[in-house]
Amino acid sequence: MNTVTVVGASLAGLYAARELRAQGFDGRLVIVGAEPHLPYDRPPLSKDFLTSNDSRTGLGDPCTGAADPRTGTPAEDTLALTDSLALTDSEEIGELAAEWLLGVHATGLDQRGRAVLLDDGRAVVTDGVVVATGASARRLPGPWPAGVHTLRTLDDARVLRADLAHGPRRVVVIGGGFIGAETASSCVALGHDVTVVEAAPLPLLPQLGPDMAAFCADLHRRGGARLLTGTGVACLHRMASADTAVAGGPDGPGAGDPGMGGPGPGDPGPDDPGPHRSGRVTAVELSDGRLLPADVVVVGIGATPNTAWLAGTSLAVRDGVLCDDGCVTSLPHVVAVGDVARVGGVRAEHWTSATEQPRVAVRNLLAAHTVEAVTAQPYFWSDQYGSRIQFAGHRPVDAAVRIAEGSPDDGSFLAVYEHGGRVTAALAVNCPRPFMKLRRELRARQVAAV
Ligand code: FAD
Repeated sequence: MNTVTVVGASLAGLYAARELRAQGFDGRLVIVGAEPHLPYDRPPLSKDFLTSNDSRTGLGDPCTGAADPRTGTPAEDTLALTDSLALTDSEEIGELAAEWLLGVHATGLDQRGRAVLLDDGRAVVTDGVVVATGASARRLPGPWPAGVHTLRTLDDARVLRADLAHGPRRVVVIGGGFIGAETASSCVALGHDVTVVEAAPLPLLPQLGPDMAAFCADLHRRGGARLLTGTGVACLHRMASADTAVAGGPDGPGAGDPGMGGPGPGDPGPDDPGPHRSGRVTAVELSDGRLLPADVVVVGIGATPNTAWLAGTSLAVRDGVLCDDGCVTSLPHVVAVGDVARVGGVRAEHWTSATEQPRVAVRNLLAAHTVEAVTAQPYFWSDQYGSRIQFAGHRPVDAAVRIAEGSPDDGSFLAVYEHGGRVTAALAVNCPRPFMKLRRELRARQVAAV
């Protein structure tokens, strides 16, 4: 293989590039990234980054990776990676010896998967492709007033942070998933008046099941946020009340519809110009008619995998790029990793999956067929209202939950999910040591079963 192109210059893309070099690929390595930044870490964006006023956490632009046009290497003076979000540094950039095409969108892949087409008109002729284009925040359809945000990128987080810097605000968070919950928690910590709106009866119900979801609902209430469940959003109101900006609308595919998690007209694509701003948001109207006054609205209703650029190729795409359990797509020289990849039927949107899949994907890419499967166990964490939640394993919907250590009343416990007489998953709140021990045991059992 002479040339490998990694599309997506973020967590999974960087790990894939590292693996390519670590596994002996010494050919031309091209990394295409739509954002103008070198790879940075997203988890802090909804946590420390929002609450911090430390300029090192991104007020400047130390992640910018404007490239030397002759070599494709990010210019030295743009690599002042003091930023706590940075995932790489100038030493590693040198070692990777890659051509970084940052601020450049891949717009297509030719039919045989042998050329990556770019939005600047160029095409990278390639022998192998790593698809690592992640996901984009889902949006409410229709025009968006100013003051309405999503939180997926560093640029999103900067704009939101600036909007929150003007003294106490009435913040409405639409969606009680992980990003919504963490953002709500950060906004409470900043002294804002926060309401979380969740269409389901409990937040995080699909991820954690009813018992642990009820615990997370309590975290909001005890943490100081208002939680409204079982109701969606009908529309957003903006400055001139006669001039209401309808997002979805009661009959439309809006947030009031519990089924709004599915793809819809509000979903972004890579060529989406972004929300159209008109007026400033003043309120969120719920589907039950209630009106929540709002100065700032954060929409946290999930993410859509960035696959539009693959339209027209022979790759199978269904809520992510379909891969076998070794991250290999229907074309053996194209692998997919991270949030965009549906590996063996499962698409995980977790940091750990994006870092564990690339080793296997690259091994299979270089071998030209699947020689290894991903055996990693699902794991994620979340920080909300001073509590660290950790989850590992698989949770069958009818699994029973048992508190194995500590107590939810004390805010520190280990819960296990049991199914068929076996522990299949664990959830800990502020209980890292017993959790890590159990996680290792679950993992060992999973590896032994393969
Ligand atoms: P992404 O990070 O989405 O990166 C994909 C990159 O590809 C982007 O830079 C995008 O611009 C680029 N791209 C897209 N289309 C194109 C194109 N056509 N051409 C070129 N480039 C393109 N996980 C946890 O486990 N715990 C947490 O606490 C946690 N917190 C999070 C908090 C926030 C605010 C967010 C947004 C995510 C969080 N996650 C967390 C999830 C974790 O960050 C993701 O799973 C991880 O970032 C996935 O990495 P990725 O490289 O697959 O995708």
